[in-house]
Amino acid sequence: MSFDASEVSAALAARGLRLTRQRRAVLDAIAAAPCSQSPLQVYDAAREQCPELGLTTVYRTLEVLDEIGALRRVHGDGHCESFVPAGAEHGHTVVCSGCGRVTEFTACDMRGITDAAALETGYRITDHFLQLTGLCAGCGTRDDQPRRDR
Ligand SMILES: [Zn+2]
Ligand SMILES: [Zn+2]
Repeated sequence: MSFDASEVSAALAARGLRLTRQRRAVLDAIAAAPCSQSPLQVYDAAREQCPELGLTTVYRTLEVLDEIGALRRVHGDGHCESFVPAGAEHGHTVVCSGCGRVTEFTACDMRGITDAAALETGYRITDHFLQLTGLCAGCGTRDDQPRRDR
């Protein structure tokens, strides 16, 4: 699903939830952001639109937006987690280790890996989370290749 207010609203309604002012503020904060946003960054930005917003509501909203497929989680170092709008129905992220840019990609043929994992573990594999790291076109072509080692 795309990150569109009416689509999100419909997906929430299917779960008996409404796109409240608070949820809308969270949605708008992520949509307007130039890069992936941590819950605290979302909280700060969304409170400009909705001053009474609480951090717990931000976390719950991010969770429900993730569940309906409107968001992608981006894992950082440690327990640092941030979010970007999801584009395609099924996609993953590649994160630039130079500038931190996050881009979605959809080509993921995991059959070889999931078959091997199922064989090795005896699990029936039902889903996967995939995140790649690299250098974006802007960072990869620079001579000095500044790395932000975090
Ligand atoms: Zn980059
Ligand atoms: Zn995939």
